[in-house]
Amino acid sequence: MMDGQEILGRGGLAATEKRLLVVRALAEAEGPATPQELLATLGAQLNRVTLYRILDLLVEHNVATRHNAGERAFRYCLHTGHENHAHFTCSRCGHTECLDSGGFGADLSELLSHLPMRVDTAEIRFGGVCQGCLRG
Ligand SMILES: [Zn+2]
Ligand SMILES: [Zn+2]
Repeated sequence: MMDGQEILGRGGLAATEKRLLVVRALAEAEGPATPQELLATLGAQLNRVTLYRILDLLVEHNVATRHNAGERAFRYCLHTGHENHAHFTCSRCGHTECLDSGGFGADLSELLSHLPMRVDTAEIRFGGVCQGCLRG
């Protein structure tokens, strides 16, 4: 796991105390996290407005991904080596996780290179039943 300073640095962002708090909370989250979950982790260290502003900044600078798991809130996760990774959401319990899509991203670039427009972002989301629910 890279440290917060390194992660921010890759996005060309200065490592301010508050940005580091958010990046660490994202890194420690078990999966893509909603702002509500991040606020619960950060407690009184950060207010909601500041958190949203920092999350937007991280997305703009390609440090984090924002995606919609079909819920009311967006979820955020850090890019840890793979940018266009896929997400999985369980239709029974709502559990969402990042999938290391490996070569999948490369295939996607190949596909996108044939398109006439410039594509900057792509979102791949799988839905189904998670391991926990399959066992239950
Ligand atoms: Zn589940
Ligand atoms: Zn993710």
